[in-house]
Amino acid sequence: MTVQIDLHTHSTASDGTQPPAAVVQSARGDGLDVLALTDHDTTSGWAEATEAALRHGVSLVRGIEISCQRDGTSVHLLGYLTDPDDPVLSAELDRARQSRVTRLERMVELMVADGIPITYAEVLAQVPAGATKGRPHIADALVHNGSVANRDEAFTKWLGNDSPYYVSHYAPDPVRAVQLVVGAGGVAVHAHPFTSTRGRTIPDALIEEMAAAGLAGVEVDHRDHDDEARYRGRALASRLGLFVTGSSDYHGTGKANRLGENTTAPAVLEQIEEQSAGVTPIVRA
Ligand code: AMP
Ligand code: FE
Ligand code: FE
Ligand code: ZN
Repeated sequence: MTVQIDLHTHSTASDGTQPPAAVVQSARGDGLDVLALTDHDTTSGWAEATEAALRHGVSLVRGIEISCQRDGTSVHLLGYLTDPDDPVLSAELDRARQSRVTRLERMVELMVADGIPITYAEVLAQVPAGATKGRPHIADALVHNGSVANRDEAFTKWLGNDSPYYVSHYAPDPVRAVQLVVGAGGVAVHAHPFTSTRGRTIPDALIEEMAAAGLAGVEVDHRDHDDEARYRGRALASRLGLFVTGSSDYHGTGKANRLGENTTAPAVLEQIEEQSAGVTPIVRA
């Protein structure tokens, strides 16, 4: 059987529901050989995931998922094997995480003003220690106080990008984010480029700009992509000389995505290893 590789997952270091070690253990249980932990705007889960990877015999690719923004549209960039001590990238991630705090407070204020039963204290109670704060934590507070059944319902009713309560946070331009990842010795992959927000997807021209800045790959096999999006992604990748990845974007019980539901070819993982100059993968015991 081929090596099973899932290059996009979240833990309680951001908006996943399992601690990093539990994500690694679940990966082992679900038959994965290689796992990337890619929490939003943080590397804080790396140490625990590394220890668990060695213990459970799973290979670990340490990663991040950087929230970016261009013309009001959200873009997610995966960065693999970056140097966690790179001062420029770290400063940018710090700034984004800080901005996420005030943004979450503001969203809750707007919701409260409109009579939605929620307090910021309830939201904070849902944020694991040190986690990158995000809308899923507001959703968890709404689930906890019985306003909605699950995160998905909270996003549909109140938390979506087109909701009147939506507030953006500081996020770097996607081209700059590619430069930051490359500058930190990492390998940049455009996450789920064709996820649609407000019915819009990002234009090919932006991916071309990112490719010119050093983007290495595109995440094509992802549950947000239908057959047409996957076809478009493969064609674009081949035209721009980018590799193609597939991943689950697992968030524990926070989303329906299951570990290993999409996977990446071993040859692509080799390219990621070859292109990185930051940290090396943790290799299975
Ligand atoms: P934020 O980073 O705070 O803007 O929140 C975006 C995050 O919310 C994404 O990374 C997803 O993990 C999560 N999310 C978006 N839509 C949904 C949904 N319908 N159900 C559950 N989680 C969602
Ligand atoms: Fe997320
Ligand atoms: Fe994402
Ligand atoms: Zn993700």
